[in-house]
Parts: sequence; structure tokens; C-alpha cells
Amino acid sequence: MELNDDRCMHCGACVGACPANAIYLNEVILDFNDDCTDCGLCVKACPVGALSLIRTRGQKVPVAATA
Ligand code: SF4
Ligand code: SF4
Repeated sequence: MELNDDRCMHCGACVGACPANAIYLNEVILDFNDDCTDCGLCVKACPVGALSLIRTRGQKVPVAATA
């Protein structure tokens, strides 16, 4: 999964849409764990188009470099 952190507003819609509970979200970090099956549901759920699907299953995508 790939996240455009400039667009993400941490609304949590993608977390609720994920059948594998593969998305972790708090105020500053959105991350994916190895349970991601690349189903793409979170991409469709995101209201701002911040997510895109890249076929790198299991890869972690750290987003918030915000210290
Ligand atoms: S692609 Fe599917 S399994 Fe992976 S994080 Fe998104 S909703 Fe969850
Ligand atoms: S649905 Fe989109 S905007 Fe909302 S937390 Fe997920 S990636 Fe961010």
C-alpha cells in the first residue's frame, strides 16, 4: 500500500474498511501490517484518495515522519 500523507486526514475510514485489520492509525501515523492482502478496499474507502495499491505485499509503509 502507498499513502499520500499530504492528503490523509486520519479519518479512520480505511481502518474500518479493512477486513484483515491490517491498518494501524493514530493521530500521526498510518501504517500497514503484514496481514494486508492487497484487497484494495481501503483505497475505495478513502474519501480523499490518499491511498493507492502497489503490489508489494507485506511491505511496511511508514508515513508519519512527524516527530
Ligand atoms: S488492501 Fe485490503 S487488506 Fe490491505 S490494508 Fe487495504 S483494506 Fe486492508
Ligand atoms: S481513509 Fe484516507 S484520509 Fe482516512 S485515514 Fe485512511 S488514508 Fe487517511
